[in-house]
Amino acid sequence: LVSRHFHPEDTIVDVDGVKIGGKEVVVMAGPCSVESIEQLREAAKAVKAGGAKFLRGGAFKPRTSPYDFQGLAEEGLKMLREVADEEGLKVVTEIVDKDDIELVGKYADIYQVGARNMQNFQLLKALGKAKKPVMLKRGLAATISEWLNAAEYIMAGGNEQVIFCERGIRTYETFTRNTLDLSAVAAIKELSHLPIIVDPSHGTGRWEMVRPMARAAVAAGCDGLIIEVHPHPEVALSDGDQSLTPKNFNALMGELGKICDVM
Ligand code: PEP
Ligand code: MN
Repeated sequence: LVSRHFHPEDTIVDVDGVKIGGKEVVVMAGPCSVESIEQLREAAKAVKAGGAKFLRGGAFKPRTSPYDFQGLAEEGLKMLREVADEEGLKVVTEIVDKDDIELVGKYADIYQVGARNMQNFQLLKALGKAKKPVMLKRGLAATISEWLNAAEYIMAGGNEQVIFCERGIRTYETFTRNTLDLSAVAAIKELSHLPIIVDPSHGTGRWEMVRPMARAAVAAGCDGLIIEVHPHPEVALSDGDQSLTPKNFNALMGELGKICDVM
């Protein structure tokens, strides 16, 4: 179902008029974690002003350490919906548990499956029955073939609205947090009809590298970008090192406008 072989034309995932996989590049942006209504509102105003169509933000955070901030759960989901509606943005947010599909679906427009859950097959099967699109991030050390198969799990359940997200993979390099595999964009375009977006924030782990890698991703032919933006990265509860300030996000959006059509 995922293969281009049996489905030559590109699939467009339409989120109430925002089309992912069409001619234009769609930008999703916002903080790594929803921290407070003030933080989220400031971030949302900035990403809207820059031209993003989606507000991102995690309410369920799969952190490496159990002692790190774990997210605000439903309270965070409510803030996402409220602030996104104020600004006319859509919501993309992570789901980590199959039992939360209804809960997250009440507030989100797209379910995000994080890298750590790419092969959580119970979650993927359950999302196959869900009525909203799923953005499937590439696993920390997943091959393209494993990633395609993970998408197949969702589609096999009947949900055809799947979007791939390349977010970097684990390699021997330690300067960057992950190695952003932009060849995955070309590989997915060859092998699948589904759209692919790129996350240069987790892909590099370093805010200085986000702008150049975002430009390169668009040049490689991705359908969208997901970018971490925080009003005050130095005090972020997660991923401050890779978060753009509103000013840098705005500058990036200007650069993108010169190399592609941004929706
Ligand atoms: C995130 O988007 O904040 C996140 C946790 O991403 P990933 O699953 O790619 O690590
Ligand atoms: Mn993050």
